[in-house]
Amino acid sequence: MTIRLTNTATRTKEEFVPLDPENVRMYVCGPTVYDRAHLGNARPVIVFDVLFRLLRHVYGAEHVTYVRNFTDVDDRINETAQKRRAAGADGTLEALIRERSDETIGWYHADMDALGALRPTAEPRATGYIAQMIAMIKDLIKEKHAYVEQGHVLFAVDTWKEGYGKLSGRSVDDMIAGARVEVAPYKRNPMDFVMWKPSSDDLPGWDSPWGRGRPGWHIECSAMAYDLLGDDFDIHGGGNDLMFPHHENEIAQSKCAGHGFARYWLHNEMLQVEGKKMSKSLGNFFTVRDLLEQGVPGEVIRFVFLSTHYRKPMDWTEKKREEAEATLRKWRALTDGVAPGAVPAEVVEALSDDLNTAGAIASLHKFAGEVDAPALAAGAQMMGLLTENMSEWWLSEADTPTDGFVKKAEFWINERADAKNRKDFARADEIRDKLADIGVMISDTPEGTKWVLNATSDKIGEWEHLE
Ligand code: AMP
Ligand code: ZN
Repeated sequence: MTIRLTNTATRTKEEFVPLDPENVRMYVCGPTVYDRAHLGNARPVIVFDVLFRLLRHVYGAEHVTYVRNFTDVDDRINETAQKRRAAGADGTLEALIRERSDETIGWYHADMDALGALRPTAEPRATGYIAQMIAMIKDLIKEKHAYVEQGHVLFAVDTWKEGYGKLSGRSVDDMIAGARVEVAPYKRNPMDFVMWKPSSDDLPGWDSPWGRGRPGWHIECSAMAYDLLGDDFDIHGGGNDLMFPHHENEIAQSKCAGHGFARYWLHNEMLQVEGKKMSKSLGNFFTVRDLLEQGVPGEVIRFVFLSTHYRKPMDWTEKKREEAEATLRKWRALTDGVAPGAVPAEVVEALSDDLNTAGAIASLHKFAGEVDAPALAAGAQMMGLLTENMSEWWLSEADTPTDGFVKKAEFWINERADAKNRKDFARADEIRDKLADIGVMISDTPEGTKWVLNATSDKIGEWEHLE
């Protein structure tokens, strides 16, 4: 099975060849844990969860390492802690900061679990890797890729003109002309970026050769990826809003510190609201928790995301939600009590083609139409759908059929045959019509009675209709 992925670094769809098939390694930039995740933040989680599942399927679950960090050094976390302390909360500022990060990480886990995302292999917190960041910054200073100025350590972009900007396809000069970069007295070049900055006494800080301070955001990912995945690794993912400057800066730091870094770069497009990126700063957001609390099942949210290719922008709409819910209701009814079969090759092939999740869903619709419940269940579970841990919404509402859908259909087809044998044609026709009402379309053929599912029926699974 060949996996092909669109590599931002080369702008082409490439065959994916891991460095070591015994240990396939992926890093994805995780959330800054200052508040609840908004719906847009769930997109990379779901996209890279599908890739994680595909890699586990192809290389074996124990041969894939997936690291997604928590950024827990952030002014907004500090602000909440400071406010709580001012309001009389017990504990040091450090403890209150930790409390806020813990609380946010707890919400994040609950929300992403509800969307059926597997937990990554490792979820490092930036605050656990300060020593590694300091070590990397020291190397960069030694190699003259960084300089110290007024307690700040900056990466000197000029020292790596040949590489800087390659990922996003810009030259340093273009970037200087077009970028909204902060000009600051401690910068030699406005493009230079902060790797370490001083902390005032009322803010958290760590001792370093450059005084008490804290790391910049970009160095966190470089240091954690190096520590947990090694010198070289396979895939780096994140939203395309991070491509510049965050990912350019990660690459610059890691490469100039003498490391290899990622070989395939994958970027998901944005979840939008009326053509604009959903973001906290624009205020056009709602959280994953908002939707869950409105009663939208996590599985429905996941399905809606998977219906659009990850490299295309998408909107969340009420219509998509309704359609996803109706489809999942039918599929759940059809696969209830059915043991999944082997994962269908066509689902794996679609996902292997640059995560063509919409194509994989088309295959699932086909299996549903053919009433191939074992293939439907296995294919869906490969994508994290129709799983046991996301079934509560359906079980709690539907009058749970104890048997599988297929068995029930067969039971009623037999009842009809019995009625015919008794010459009770009225009853036989009644059963046929009622089955048709709930989507089970039967036809008598020389090989016996056959049936197909009419996926447009809105009464699928309502067996009580036949009693
Ligand atoms: P942040 O906490 O803002 O750094 O974002 C965490 C992750 O969510 C990053 O991978 C971002 O690229 C991603 N992200 C943020 N906003 C959106 C959005 N509207 N659509 C898709 N991904 C997003
Ligand atoms: Zn990152």
